Amino acid sequence: MSEGQHSRLAATPSLEAGDSLWQACVEQLAQELPEQQFNTWIKPLSAQVTDDFSRVTLFVANRFKLDWIRAQYAGRINAVLEKLYGQPVQLELAITPRENTVRTYPAPSVVAANAPVAEPADIEEDPASAAFKTRLNTALTFDNLVEGTANRMARAAAMHVAGTPGQLYNPLFIYGGVGLGKTHLVHAVGNRLLADRPQAKVLYIHAEQFVSDVVKAYQRKTFDEFKERYHSLDLLLIDDVQFFANKDRTQEEFFNAFEALLAKKSHIVMTSDTYPKGLADIHERLISRFDSGLTVAIEPPELEMRVAILINKARQENAEMPEEVAFFVAKNVRSNVRELEGALRKILAYSRFNQKEISIQLAREALRDLLSIQNRQISVENIQKTVADYYKIKVADMYSKKRPASIARPRQIAMYLAKELTQKSLPEIGELFGGRDHTTVLHAVRKISAERQQLTELNQQLHVLEQTLKG
Ligand code: ADP
Ligand code: MG
Repeated sequence: MSEGQHSRLAATPSLEAGDSLWQACVEQLAQELPEQQFNTWIKPLSAQVTDDFSRVTLFVANRFKLDWIRAQYAGRINAVLEKLYGQPVQLELAITPRENTVRTYPAPSVVAANAPVAEPADIEEDPASAAFKTRLNTALTFDNLVEGTANRMARAAAMHVAGTPGQLYNPLFIYGGVGLGKTHLVHAVGNRLLADRPQAKVLYIHAEQFVSDVVKAYQRKTFDEFKERYHSLDLLLIDDVQFFANKDRTQEEFFNAFEALLAKKSHIVMTSDTYPKGLADIHERLISRFDSGLTVAIEPPELEMRVAILINKARQENAEMPEEVAFFVAKNVRSNVRELEGALRKILAYSRFNQKEISIQLAREALRDLLSIQNRQISVENIQKTVADYYKIKVADMYSKKRPASIARPRQIAMYLAKELTQKSLPEIGELFGGRDHTTVLHAVRKISAERQQLTELNQQLHVLEQTLKG
């Protein structure tokens, strides 16, 4: 181990180690829980760990969440902590003190994880102050969003909007797979605009939250306030609009807000997991509105970009990741940035816990589970991405209904590889390709394997793809 790292560890042992204990726990839970649950309940938690690790206090935003976490997750969290630490850990839950950080607040009310909450807390946002909440995460900025071929267009368009909102590219529609930085990018737009114009009314909202706002306004008959709130914005950032599917009332309200905002030259930035015409169960008139400004994709990051992201993020954590280690990790963790972050967290925690310097060997050990899973199985998702990359089409076209040969053929190739390289059945594969019939998959498999015998060029391409996928 290097001197530098040693002294840094020695200087603040409890904070660093406590931090990594909690991070290791979070990492574990991220693997166990469905993503949605993890993001909603676990990710927002912050933890305070006592010097001797005997007690961990988790801070949650409000009473409702506290009850829920205690009922649903406290047992498991406790078990994971104890397993990681190797000794009993007492878990407590507390409500985050309002308008104050955990560190500076004198005495937050703390309750043991299994005790009833004694103190009633006023948790409902009052509507007046909620109207001015931006819901922006100030940590997500352009500065810490690494640029690469995969996000260049989207990033440039987003910066343009942040600089001169209400003019070009309205609405801006950003789409791409999970964990590619869509949410980060829209927050960056909001943060940049507010930095330039602190008075601007900016709101970030996840589409699901918008749905629940509509429902609430409906139940409480507060549509006037709802409208006033939304229609008065200068910038509306709305995330994951695919969640509007089948929500008629919400779609109608969103349509109204949309029209009102565009009319007064306010800007709208949207994200989605697919391009507008690929969206299912959303009214045609909304889809055509979505597509009326600029639509840009974020693609999975290429190798160099993955390396840059790793090195960058390690620096943000005050750790130095040698380039060769970053390459090793980037070659093995390919699908998205969220997974890269997960891998990095594991490596950092492993390095801190074991007081070892970051090396390829250490990375290999820290990521053992992940690497062996990857070696054992290739996912259909991975095949779709790799094939789409290779033939320069959109990943979304793997599930789209489009038929031109330039798209249909790579799709058939991907189906063929899915059958060849995974354990999935024909109907399962059909399902993963936008709900296609198993006979369609069978047809593709037969066609490509027959052609493979005849066409040297195709055979060559398939060979490259197989090698890439097998790693
Ligand atoms: P999405 O909304 O597309 O699912 P997110 O915006 O939540 O993805 O990104 C997942 C994680 O990866 C976030 O922590 C985000 O900060 C990080 N991230 C994504 N893209 C980049 C990038 N280009 N540079 C740095 N961090 C990134
Ligand atoms: Mg997102």
